[in-house]
Amino acid sequence: MSDDASPATTTTAPLDWSYAESKESTAIVSIPDEQGLWIGGREVAALSGNGFASVNPANEETLGTVAEAGEADVDAAVSAARTAYEDGWRDLPGSERSKYLFRLARMLQERAREFAVLETLDGGKPIREARDFDLPMAAAHFFYYAGWADKLDYAFPGATPRPVGVAGQVIPWNFPLLMLAWKVAPALAAGNTVVLKPAETTSLTALEFARMSAEAGLPDGVLNVITGAGATGAALVGHEGVDKVAFTGSTAVGKLIQRAVAGSDKRLTLELGGKAAHVVFDDAPLDQAIEGVVNGIFFNQGHVCCAGSRLLVQESIHDVFVDKLKDRLDLLRVGDPLDKNTDIGAINSPEQLERIKELVADGEATGGERWQPACDLPERGYWFPPTLFLGVSQSHRIAQEEIFGPVLSIMTFRTEDEAIEKANNTPYGLSAGVWTNKGSRILWMADRLEAGVVWANTYNQFDPASPFGGYKESGFGREGGRHGLLPYVEGVA
Ligand code: NAD
Repeated sequence: MSDDASPATTTTAPLDWSYAESKESTAIVSIPDEQGLWIGGREVAALSGNGFASVNPANEETLGTVAEAGEADVDAAVSAARTAYEDGWRDLPGSERSKYLFRLARMLQERAREFAVLETLDGGKPIREARDFDLPMAAAHFFYYAGWADKLDYAFPGATPRPVGVAGQVIPWNFPLLMLAWKVAPALAAGNTVVLKPAETTSLTALEFARMSAEAGLPDGVLNVITGAGATGAALVGHEGVDKVAFTGSTAVGKLIQRAVAGSDKRLTLELGGKAAHVVFDDAPLDQAIEGVVNGIFFNQGHVCCAGSRLLVQESIHDVFVDKLKDRLDLLRVGDPLDKNTDIGAINSPEQLERIKELVADGEATGGERWQPACDLPERGYWFPPTLFLGVSQSHRIAQEEIFGPVLSIMTFRTEDEAIEKANNTPYGLSAGVWTNKGSRILWMADRLEAGVVWANTYNQFDPASPFGGYKESGFGREGGRHGLLPYVEGVA
C-alpha cells in the first residue's frame, strides 16, 4: 500500500424502515357467486327461494350469495338426516365411522391454507390466527373424535352407549369452522347424524366443508348444512324430528332456545357468552402476564366467548402494569386481515361494531376513562381500535356485559378474597385467568373462581382432549374430551 493511500469511503443508501405488508394470496380460494343448501349429500336450491349476501367485513365487498333456508328446507334437511341415521349410519361399526372422521381431519389439513383464507375473507379474523389456530384445532378435533368412534365402550365403562339420533346444531360467527368441528366431530363419532346451521355472517367455510365431506365419501344425509339467520335456527331447534339440540351463541338466544325446547324430550346443551376475569397478582412475571392479557382480550378482535375482558390487577402494581400494557398496545397492528403481520382484524359485522360502540360510549358516559393507541384504521370495512378502560367499577355495564370486541375493562383488588368476589361478580361463568408465582394461590383461586375453565400463568390454551363449557349464564354441557361425547350418547348414566 502506498503512503498516500487513504481509507476507502463507502456510501450506503439509507435503510427503508417503512412498513412492508406480507399479504396472503386469495388465489387459492374460489367462492361460487350463489350457493344453495347442503341436504342429503348434494347442493340444492332453497325451497324458500330466498338468499342473502356474505360480505367481507374488511372491505364490505360481497363474496357471494347463500341460500336462506325456510321451514320447508329445514324439514327436508331433518328428513335427510333421519333417513341417513336409520338407513345405516347409526348401525355402522365405530371403526367404519372413524375412517370418515380421520379422512375429514386429513383433508382439512391438506386444504388448511384454502380454508384459512376463506375463513379470514368471510369473518375478518387475521390470517395468522385462522392459519395457526382455527385450522389446526379444527383438524385436531376430527382426529381426536375419530379416535373415540370405535372405543365408546371404553369411554363409558360399564355402559352401552347408543347414538341419540338427529342433532340440530346452531353455531356462531366467531370461530365458524372450529365451532363446526366442536359439534360435528363428536356427534358423528357417536353415530348421530347432523343438521348444522352456521351463523348468517359466516356461512362459507361450513358450505365448503360440506362439499369436502362428499369428497371424503361421507354417506348422503349424514351431514346437512342449512344457511340462514335466527328464523332458520329457530325452525331447526323447534323441529320435532330433532333429538338433540346443540347451541353455541349468545346468552339471550340461548334462553330463547331453552324455552323453545322446554317440555319436549330433546336433549340440550348451551355454550353461551362470558365475561372472564383475568387476575394478575403482584408476584406475577409481569412481562409474560402482559402477553397473556393481550392475547386474552385481543385474540380474534375480542370476538371470543372466553375473552379475558375484565382485568383485575393487584393495586400495588396497577400503574406499572397499565404503563406496560399501553406500551404493548402501541405495537399492535390493526388492519388487513390477510396481511400476515396483522394482530387485530376486522369486526365481523356492522351490527357487532354498533354494539361495541354503544357499550364503549356507555362506559365513557358513566365515568370510565377510555384509552386507545394511535392507529390508522382502514377507510372501508368495520374496525375498532384496541381499547382500555381505566377507572371501571363493578357496576359499570362494561364490567358486567359481554362486549365481544377489543375492549378491556381494568379494575383493581388488594386481597385474594376481594379478587374472587370481583371475579365472580357477573352473571357469567365461562373462563378465568390467574397470574401469580405461587402454586398454592393458583389452586386456592381455581377452587373459588366460578368458571368452567381456569388458566394459570397462560391464557386461551385449548386441546381437543380437554372439556370446555360454562356455569351460570354461560350455559351447560361440555364440548371437547370424553365429556364432549356425553350429549350425543344414550345409555350412559
Ligand atoms: P347469536 O346468539 O346472535 O347467534 C348464534 C347463532 O344462533 C347464529 O347462527 C344465529 O343465526 C342463531 N340464532 C339467532 N337467533 C336464534 C333463535 N331464536 N333460535 C335459534 N338460533 C338462533 O350469537 P353470535 O352473535 O353469533 O355469537 C356470539 C356469541 O356466541 C357470544 O355471546 C359468545 O360468547 C358466544 N359463544 C360462546 C361459545 C362457548 O363455547 N361458550 C363459543 C363461541 C361463541
